[in-house]
Amino acid sequence: MNSKNKHFGTKAIHAGVEPDPTTGAIMTPIYQTSTYVQEEVGKHKGYEYSRTLNPTRHALEKAIAELENGKFGACFGSGLAAIDCVIKMLNPGDEVISTNDLYGGSYRIFTTIFAKYGIRFHFVNMNDTSEVEKLVNDNTKLIWVETPTNPMMNIVDIAEMARIAKKCGAWLAVDNTFATPYLQTPLDLGADIVMHSVTKYLGGHSDVVMGALVTSNENIAAEMYRIQNSSGAVTAPMDSFLVLRGLKTLHLRIQRHCENGAKVAQWLQGHPKVDKVYWPGFENHPNHAIAKKQMNDFGGMISFSLKGNKMEEAHAIMAKFEVFTLAESLGGVESLTCHPATMTHAAIPAEERQAAGIVDSLIRLSVGVEDIRDLLDDLAQALA
Ligand SMILES: *Cc1c(COP(=O)(O)O)cnc(C)c1O
Repeated sequence: MNSKNKHFGTKAIHAGVEPDPTTGAIMTPIYQTSTYVQEEVGKHKGYEYSRTLNPTRHALEKAIAELENGKFGACFGSGLAAIDCVIKMLNPGDEVISTNDLYGGSYRIFTTIFAKYGIRFHFVNMNDTSEVEKLVNDNTKLIWVETPTNPMMNIVDIAEMARIAKKCGAWLAVDNTFATPYLQTPLDLGADIVMHSVTKYLGGHSDVVMGALVTSNENIAAEMYRIQNSSGAVTAPMDSFLVLRGLKTLHLRIQRHCENGAKVAQWLQGHPKVDKVYWPGFENHPNHAIAKKQMNDFGGMISFSLKGNKMEEAHAIMAKFEVFTLAESLGGVESLTCHPATMTHAAIPAEERQAAGIVDSLIRLSVGVEDIRDLLDDLAQALA
């Protein structure tokens, strides 16, 4: 079936997947093989060596590309390996403009790996378009957007960044990990590249580490596949199979993440011990209008701070959680919680951290798809 012109829920189940040509197996088999027999020299079925292409990975790459409304997909050993591939498309002297509240690992690969090869990175508040425009020059080759951001849930206007990128001849890449294509499709808004930490919502079950890129630009795609094959940070057939399975329920999972997220955000907002709640669905969220414009719903990621802003109090609440589990990562079916100031963002100097809103009492929730009554009960007993 050609699912390209179908709706999202149909695509999630059918995209990229065809019955196995040799057996009719409805599920794409785990092709656990490194190489492929050739009938004669140069005569093969499209697969020569599994770093270059593997049928299970290939099915997944087609599926993710289709969900993002893109033409070409590539999967990598992690989200960071996917980012690594994008920056390797640049040359010494090229400049990148990025958000100032970027995922820590993206900041680390930019500043500690690629800066020394002569690529310049700028980090700005992308909600102030003039700050981005001020930095644009002839060397600007890439604008890197993440939206919503972690853990402050800021929203960047993708169409506006695409406009600036087009004007200066740079590519726009969007880290779509938090939103997933169910909530927003950056290529439709003018982005050239979409990046995913598949580890999070696309995989959805906290059992795989993987990254992906999608583009519709043939020149970018040629570079993407050349680097994927040359650097070799590919993902395994078993992991590809697990994500193919995860994708089939992406729409169902995200619907429930959003539903539960909205209820948790509203409940927290009304609690006497809670100071601020960061969730783009609130009308008074500073970027609510942009979120409404470019997203179909507001997701299940929420951060909140406590009145009095005591770190010990945040730690005590987190120790009492029973359903919310203390762990890094996000986007799985189970609810997780983390303390950004001491976990994911500990490497950022305290002053910079506070200025970005990552205060000592800030608690981040990845709201899962459990029964909402148990999630609210858990929050109530932990905050009591
Ligand atoms: C986790 C994450 C990454 C990195 O992905 P890995 O799969 O952990 O390498 C990049 N961006 C965002 C927004 C993330 O949450």
